[in-house]
Amino acid sequence: APTYTHKFDHAAFKGEVEIPLGLFINGEHVESKDGKTIDTINPTTGEVICSIVEGTAADVEIAVDAAREAFENTWGYNTPGFERGKLLMKIATLMERDADILASIESLDNGKAFTAAKYFDVTESAATFRYYGGWADKIHGKTIEQSTGKFAYTKHEPVGVCGQIIPWNFPLLMFSWKIAPALAAGCTVVIKPSELTPLTAAYMTKIFQEAGVPKGVVNVVCGYGPTVGNAITSSKKVDKVAFTGSTPVGRKVMEEASKSNIKKVTLELGGKGANIIFEDADISEAVKYAAQGIFFNHGQTCCAGSRIFVQRKIYDEFAQKFAKVTQQLKVGDPFETATYQGPQVSQTQYDRIMNYVECGKQEGATVITGGKRHGKTGYFIEPTIFGDVTSNMKIVQEEIFGPVVVMTAFDTEEEVIKEANSTNYGLASAVFTQNLSRAHTVAGKLKSGTVWINCYNELHPQIPFGGFKESGIGRELGEYALENYTEVKAVHVNLSAKCG
Ligand code: NAD
Repeated sequence: APTYTHKFDHAAFKGEVEIPLGLFINGEHVESKDGKTIDTINPTTGEVICSIVEGTAADVEIAVDAAREAFENTWGYNTPGFERGKLLMKIATLMERDADILASIESLDNGKAFTAAKYFDVTESAATFRYYGGWADKIHGKTIEQSTGKFAYTKHEPVGVCGQIIPWNFPLLMFSWKIAPALAAGCTVVIKPSELTPLTAAYMTKIFQEAGVPKGVVNVVCGYGPTVGNAITSSKKVDKVAFTGSTPVGRKVMEEASKSNIKKVTLELGGKGANIIFEDADISEAVKYAAQGIFFNHGQTCCAGSRIFVQRKIYDEFAQKFAKVTQQLKVGDPFETATYQGPQVSQTQYDRIMNYVECGKQEGATVITGGKRHGKTGYFIEPTIFGDVTSNMKIVQEEIFGPVVVMTAFDTEEEVIKEANSTNYGLASAVFTQNLSRAHTVAGKLKSGTVWINCYNELHPQIPFGGFKESGIGRELGEYALENYTEVKAVHVNLSAKCG
């Protein structure tokens, strides 16, 4: 299978990096069955970086068989938890060694700022492998007494072969959130990266080889959703599917799972996060978090604080300070150290976001700042704040998935909770206040899987993440994610050996 060598030359890293472009099946890089490839584009320039091997349904089948073979004969109970844990920690160490390389590839392929890629994406990805490395030998069941002579014990057994499908917004992080808990639990994996951002996953296959991951334990099949993705979700040989992406595709994943073999399903889908600022908040801190809450990763974050509610008394002051901080965010080349916001990931996303911006203007929302393209090449958009929005506007209802936030004033706690909960999504929200009682009362009433008090976008491998309502099913990260990858078996014991 082909490889591609990229020459990086920026302030933090200079050097040549070889990236394998084949499918990674049964421990080897291979060509696909029909020889097709996918061009991956540099969003900063719009130019092709390289062409990666495009998988087919037939390739998925081979990968699933390899994962099955590894599950039955080398991984799972064949490799003790302690050994699985050591391997996961070794992967983490190699990722830390190659942090500049991984971050450079991520910035090149996705467009995110190198600083963020290195200190958030790569750091958190390695931390996730290390964290689940610690869990691998601590996954066990319970003993439950029933009556004299009768008891049961439970075993938390690995689910088996897991199909995993991930998006383009955090290519390496989503790859790590999926693979690390699965391997810790003893499962084997067939994963499909997004066709838009396959390159960090491709590089990670070299790290798996170097770490000594047995063949077939992790298989990476790049390709499109309707072909490779669908082959995973509809396979009768896959025991579980874990999906991160949009809500419409999430529905299809469930449908295929139900039509094929009732494989277990976990979904991490979209969001429209409410960020609530009460008049007693520390305004300058709230402003900083609000900016980071929406503009981090160019707004391409499922948990983004894309709806800001500000109590009326401080609305004007907040709006003014928020606009000022937003205008200071540096948009530009992701490899420049000072850059906060790079390009959106693709022409399609750029067009989609700019359509929402136009729509917001037509619906009568006020552009407080931004609202235009940035520069002449690449997919750059100015960080944009809309004020005076009303709840029926499309920009308030739908997930924009770009650097666009809507802001509105509210009067009472009751009213803002009702508004915050008035969406089909329920991924994340935040409340800013100095009033302890109000903070926890509001946190309790918000219908979302995460609530941040006086902060935003805090994520940690130890802390579960996932959605209420149409934002998903199941939780990633923390101890909770292990439940996705284990089946509980109850073994009943009758010591008297008599019937009845
Ligand atoms: P998407 O749903 O279009 O694609 C996600 C993945 O699914 C890609 O790998 C794609 O190739 C694949 N896919 C597409 N059609 C498929 C099909 N029919 N069968 C199987 N797989 C298929 O989403 P996207 O545009 O890549 O990502 C953006 C979306 O992801 C946003 O809505 C965002 O909120 C969501 N997201 C959610 C989380 C979370 O944790 N909740 C995290 C990141 C992104």
